[in-house]
Amino acid sequence: MHTKTIAQLAAGLKSGEFSSVELTEHYINRIKNHDGELNSYITVSDDIALAQAKQADETIANGKAGLLTGIPFAQKDIFCTNGVKTSCGSKMLDNFIAPYDATVIESFNNAGAVMLGKTNMDEFAMGSSNETSFYGPVKNPWDTEYVPGGSSGGSAAAVAARLAPASTGTDTGGSIRQPAALCNLTGLKPSYGRVSRYGMIAFASSLDQAGTFTQTAEDAALMLGVMAGLDEKDSTSIDEPVPDYTASLNQDVKGLKVGLPKEYFADGLDVEVAKRIDDAINEYKKLGAEFVEISLPNTHLSVPAYYIVAPAECSSNLSRFDGVRFGYRCEDPKDLEDLYKRSRGEGFGDEVKRRIMVGAYALSSGYYDAYYLKAQKIRRLIANDFSEAFKQVDVIMSPTTPTPAFKVGEKNDDPISMYYSDIYTIAVNLAGLPGMSVPCGMVNNLPVGLQIIAPYFAEAKLLNVAHQYQQVTDWHQQIPEQYK
Ligand code: GLN
Repeated sequence: MHTKTIAQLAAGLKSGEFSSVELTEHYINRIKNHDGELNSYITVSDDIALAQAKQADETIANGKAGLLTGIPFAQKDIFCTNGVKTSCGSKMLDNFIAPYDATVIESFNNAGAVMLGKTNMDEFAMGSSNETSFYGPVKNPWDTEYVPGGSSGGSAAAVAARLAPASTGTDTGGSIRQPAALCNLTGLKPSYGRVSRYGMIAFASSLDQAGTFTQTAEDAALMLGVMAGLDEKDSTSIDEPVPDYTASLNQDVKGLKVGLPKEYFADGLDVEVAKRIDDAINEYKKLGAEFVEISLPNTHLSVPAYYIVAPAECSSNLSRFDGVRFGYRCEDPKDLEDLYKRSRGEGFGDEVKRRIMVGAYALSSGYYDAYYLKAQKIRRLIANDFSEAFKQVDVIMSPTTPTPAFKVGEKNDDPISMYYSDIYTIAVNLAGLPGMSVPCGMVNNLPVGLQIIAPYFAEAKLLNVAHQYQQVTDWHQQIPEQYK
């Protein structure tokens, strides 16, 4: 059962081949057997999952099932879940039981889906390797000496090892696309505003966006259809109609104009990764797509601009964790100041503290214009680069990451090198565009991802382009040997 996609599982549930309870038990057993070495889940909510599965089986029996009814999912532990611990990968929220559901979670519940549990992640979604989690690192199912990517590393590893058929993630600078690439999954980061952020613990509010980890683009289309839409509780969610994302999957890509940004194929790109991207380009050429070189001239500014904007917003967002209202509180505080200082000092990990310090500095009086304002201006230039490019091309393609997965511990003493592992993904967040990563090959048995970027709210196009590739390749079906 666990090699099936959401679409195949839905068909199996509908035909009575298996029940949602059987399916859910199967995944819970897989988690018990395999997650010891991967550490992809922080919480397994088996009681809730089985109750939801029972309910789903009744809905299916009554003929009222939707496409996701009875399908188990893993949810990133950044989404508030009513009655279930929501830690955001931090000691700060280790004791936090959310009193309400995030809108994304509510959407899955309304669709009759089953929640297997909450997945491990970098602390407050800050990281590219899932090593900053309070709950310990997540291991890459393709080789447990390697990182799964981050920050949604648990969500990626869980699906890669088929400990869930699909999962949610969030992408502030690449945290869906990068781990999807490193774990051989289809990762979708929708346009900013496409999916509600209500109840999704904020890291950098102008960049954060929820999305999906799936085996196929078709499954991503099914999930996005449930997650997307206007939410009055999130003023940044957009009032744009939600199309049927599965309706256009089968359009051919003959004549599709694809831009290859020369800055994304320059120094720093691993030669073997470059070859896999070339192979993917050749597949698309066979399908009739046309390629042109384009330029995104401000690409080199995206990582520096991001590492001002994201820390600035995080320093502001994380000021709510003060030991008073929720989360960790230090023992026996002497006075209010001591309470604040020690609760935050003891509750946050090193990377989170580093970001808060950088952000507070960049926002402080006298430096605001020099750093934050400047970064915002650069952000505009980066967005303009994409707008110019999309006058010539329908989509943009590039590698998702410059290298395949790196080893656990390899970049721990070198935050700058860690930051640069998102070099191809970050600009998309700064511009607010939708992006995907699609499996396109292996280097020494470690997966490589092809990134596809589309204009604002063109998720249907993105999914269509990815789906067509998956009709003629089978990289997305590869599973690590020991999880078959
Ligand atoms: N790796 C980037 C960071 O550490 C992106 C994280 C994310 O997308 N949540 O900020």
